[in-house]
Amino acid sequence: MYRPLLAGLAVCLLPLTLHAADNLSRVALPTDVQPTRYDVSIVPDAQHMSFSGSVKIALDVKSATKVIEFNSADLALNRLALDGKAAPRPVFDTTKQTATLNFPTALKPGRHILRIDYAGKINPHPAGLYALDYSDKTGAKKRALFTQFENSDARRFIPSWDEPNRKAVFVLTATVPSSDFPVSNMPIAVTEKLAGGLKRVRFMPSPRMSSYLLFFGTGDFERVSRKVNGVDIGVVFKRGDGNKARYALDEASKFLPYYEAYFGVKFPLPKLDMIAGPGTSQTFGAMENWGAIFYFERALMLDPKTGSEADRRNISVDVAHEMAHQWFGDLVTMDWWDDLWLNEGFASWMQNKANDHFHPEWHMWMDSIDARENAMRVDARAGTHPIITAIHDVLMANQAFDTITYSKGQAVIWMLESYVGEDAFRAGIRAYMKDHAYGNTVTDDLWREIDKVSKTPVTQIAHDFTLQAGVPLIRATKAGPGLRLTQERAVDDNSENSATSWHVPVVLRDLGNSKRWQGIVTRETPADVPLSSDKGGLVNAGQTAYFRTAYDDAAFQNIVTAFPALAPEDELGLINDARDNGYVGLTPFSHFLTLASKVTPATNVKVLDTLEGRMSGIDQVYRDLPGQKAYRAFVQKVLDPVFANTGWDAKPGEDSNVAILRSDLIGTLSQIGDPAVIAEAGRRFDLYRANPDSMSGDMRQAVMDVIARHADATRWEQLRQLAKTTTDSALREEFYTYLGAAENPAIAQKALELALTDEPPTTVRPRIVAATANLHPEMAFDFFVAHRDAFNQILEPDARDRFPMQLASGSFEPAMIEKVKVYAEKYVPASARGDSVKAEGAIAYWAKIRATSLPEIDKWLSSRS
Ligand SMILES: [Zn+2]
Repeated sequence: MYRPLLAGLAVCLLPLTLHAADNLSRVALPTDVQPTRYDVSIVPDAQHMSFSGSVKIALDVKSATKVIEFNSADLALNRLALDGKAAPRPVFDTTKQTATLNFPTALKPGRHILRIDYAGKINPHPAGLYALDYSDKTGAKKRALFTQFENSDARRFIPSWDEPNRKAVFVLTATVPSSDFPVSNMPIAVTEKLAGGLKRVRFMPSPRMSSYLLFFGTGDFERVSRKVNGVDIGVVFKRGDGNKARYALDEASKFLPYYEAYFGVKFPLPKLDMIAGPGTSQTFGAMENWGAIFYFERALMLDPKTGSEADRRNISVDVAHEMAHQWFGDLVTMDWWDDLWLNEGFASWMQNKANDHFHPEWHMWMDSIDARENAMRVDARAGTHPIITAIHDVLMANQAFDTITYSKGQAVIWMLESYVGEDAFRAGIRAYMKDHAYGNTVTDDLWREIDKVSKTPVTQIAHDFTLQAGVPLIRATKAGPGLRLTQERAVDDNSENSATSWHVPVVLRDLGNSKRWQGIVTRETPADVPLSSDKGGLVNAGQTAYFRTAYDDAAFQNIVTAFPALAPEDELGLINDARDNGYVGLTPFSHFLTLASKVTPATNVKVLDTLEGRMSGIDQVYRDLPGQKAYRAFVQKVLDPVFANTGWDAKPGEDSNVAILRSDLIGTLSQIGDPAVIAEAGRRFDLYRANPDSMSGDMRQAVMDVIARHADATRWEQLRQLAKTTTDSALREEFYTYLGAAENPAIAQKALELALTDEPPTTVRPRIVAATANLHPEMAFDFFVAHRDAFNQILEPDARDRFPMQLASGSFEPAMIEKVKVYAEKYVPASARGDSVKAEGAIAYWAKIRATSLPEIDKWLSSRS
């Protein structure tokens, strides 16, 4: 699954507290009854938001038993028969979401057929079978149906053994309006015309797979396709959007042969569809159903006229991520949710690897460094958890989709690949795919395969980084002509400075002669690395390992001297470490400011982009403090020459990274109040209103960002008119979200009130609130609390507890901590308060930075002026 953050939230998605749970206490179905095949037939009634179904499940009873227990949630099981004879009435457990049949006599081992006729609900949000309503280009109201099952909602569609290690064959039949375009994992085998304007389609049998990967969708769709390596690759979208499907189809057509070669396994299904659903979700962006990947349309569809460079890259990343899952996750699946990171960490790593292959000019590995940075920031706080964490039951599994699973997961895989080498790592992956195809695995199965082909074993390092929480800190201290490397744990407060030790693979580059030293540093075994001169050394050269580096002042002086000539990824890593170490007091904040003042327009574009992002983030923490003015002057001084170089308009043939940098620079310069930038954006906004075709997607997003931030009542209404009148659903969503971005509190209040009305599309309404929380977290949180019932109607169930905590997380006000606590105690069950604990931690973290780090910046700035 691909889980982007809610638009507009300043802080990254917080990890939840995952309580260690003993494997013995895992809540899972008994294993003496195994499903081998489901023949399921459903008849949706889209108008009444319900469906009827019947399923014939082939069971393999392993040992004599009187009990058949399976998953069922929100389904009415009307008639049950085993081997043609009426079965006992089911006993339901709504907490465990199970139904149990207690037979008077034991069933014999061997094959049995369980048949169930049942009825279920079509949900208004993505869980089980659900509806997405939209207006087509003519304004006509339409309803499309889709399914979303990960991690445990197939049981809302079929009474089933809804656990990842209960793989079976699925044969799906559906009765839909004859004008519909139904789509599932496999191609249609038979279509039958029925009376009443209906048709019945039966899809071909799926391969053996996990229930969470089954998919069904139907609606007024179209499809474009292309045959690649014998696989029919398609994009399925709502009628009329054909011009937006081309880019994703082109990208997928490149990725498929690449993945087949990388994994050493042909794509196992005859077709691979990518389905675009209208709207957006608060909990996910895309889902890797085998052969039928679902995306919310922004993650798949690119309008060549209005799309931006950032949109284009996001689509490439999302498509590469979901396609990697077709092997890693779908063909070979984790045995249980404990090992979810195997799916998500791997796909997150591969999304950059595949894109780096086809778009080397994008410097995707710099994005990996950013993802690592996000992971380290949450992993250094109290309450983090190891990558592999015991998941007690499927309900808890939902909490495992977090920054640690995705971003730390990808960082650790990247580190291990660099450690054993690309060829050995790929050989291990190929063996793993071959040995476990159509099966389930635990993480050690992967390490075992890699150890077999690698010169150096990885299991020890892999265990240290996946079974222990936290971030190692390597201190580099100048010792004579060399560097002494020692290990601690990087923590944001002193509460968790445990004695954790990691086997950290360190690569150190001698800045005198560019030679590399490699070694393992643990807490117990520091390293003394001799250097060729007094020019010093660069730790974590290449930035592939997961740790922070803190240089002492003497070692840092060498870094400053060498900085302009370093590789871009090293410059990026140094900027990140200096900022974060500065925030928490591991090194002086002057390290970051010194590096910032070393950049020039000639610095690598992505380094500049990250730097301006970091500077903008610090400005946000400065909100309303007296030192903000001097800090903004410093930012302006650093960024002015860079912006003078990029200019407002694209130059013919420029590096495509510049488009993104330009857009981000305009945003940051407007944030710090640059009057020239604000005025020029206003002029361009008026041009856009007169003629939307006059502007590229990149420029539109940059201009809207400025207009939205500085909006007065007139500008805000103009923006709202754009939102109301556009016929493009993605643009409508974008404009409405911008309405929440105003600095002016009275305008922000208007946006919150608008989010309560039916004017914006339902799925966009929470995004407006989230956008408001970016600059007004307290106001957004209070407003949410005051209108909690209304918002909970439009929030997806999985987002309800998390959403208000995300709003509050950007606050710097210590008083908010109490408010969050009170809210959680009143509304959130004790077992699900991980989010509130994290929000409280985040607020305290920001408050501390305002109290300690920012005065340090003030001092540095005044000492220079
Ligand atoms: Zn994923």
